[in-house]
Amino acid sequence: MARKLIIAANWKMNKGPSETGGFLKTFLAKIAPSTSNCEVVVAPPFVSLATASELVANSNVELAAQNVSEYDSGAYTGEINVVMLKELFVRHVILGHSERRSIYGETDAVINAKIKKAREANLKPIFCIGETLEEREAGKLEEVLRTQVRGGLDGVSEKDLLESVLAYEPVWAIGTGVTASPEQAQEAHAFVRSLLAEFYGAAVSEKIRIQYGGSVKPGNSAELMGQPDIDGALVGGASLEAQSFLELIENAVAGA
Ligand code: PEP
Repeated sequence: MARKLIIAANWKMNKGPSETGGFLKTFLAKIAPSTSNCEVVVAPPFVSLATASELVANSNVELAAQNVSEYDSGAYTGEINVVMLKELFVRHVILGHSERRSIYGETDAVINAKIKKAREANLKPIFCIGETLEEREAGKLEEVLRTQVRGGLDGVSEKDLLESVLAYEPVWAIGTGVTASPEQAQEAHAFVRSLLAEFYGAAVSEKIRIQYGGSVKPGNSAELMGQPDIDGALVGGASLEAQSFLELIENAVAGA
């Protein structure tokens, strides 16, 4: 079944409002119509969302946040809730990123609560999963992915899953310059899709887009997107420069 590509830029803790404005002006002026069959999403830091929101307003580039609170409002110093994101026309939210898991101790249960809170507000989760090198080398790839998928999606309805995207990001490939080979990535994606089929049925699993993340660049995006179960990319480093991100998208569309 044809699944529309979705390519998202995760800027992490880079680009304040003025840099965000500069990037988006260049990017929006150059993004080619050939990428119109690809959903393009940009996730700036929270403080740059208002600037980004104004600039992408009449374009087909969508906004994502990099995180959201699992709580509604109140005494949660430093947190941002779903209502605040909606006010800025944010459509997606990255949840379960390995940096949130490893640096900030987010568990599958916390990620699950965030996914549910996001869906209550009709935000679309980009739900990240992936194994460390130690886990892969210990033969635990499937066990880790099963635990993360089951835990993150516990109690998430079929309807809400259909509004979500998964991102398979092997931790050893994030920001390292080491990319999973297209075969390694495809194998993991096929396994994740089989988990979704087990939990939600084959018809649903065929509709869910699974992005690959981990050192995706203009030079490897075509081959990765050519794999049958890879439906997009979550991109860190190569999304920080407008020209590189544009080339990555164009090559991905050509290779899909
Ligand atoms: C990411 O942060 O999700 C990521 C995949 O980063 P990079 O592309 O830099 O590996």
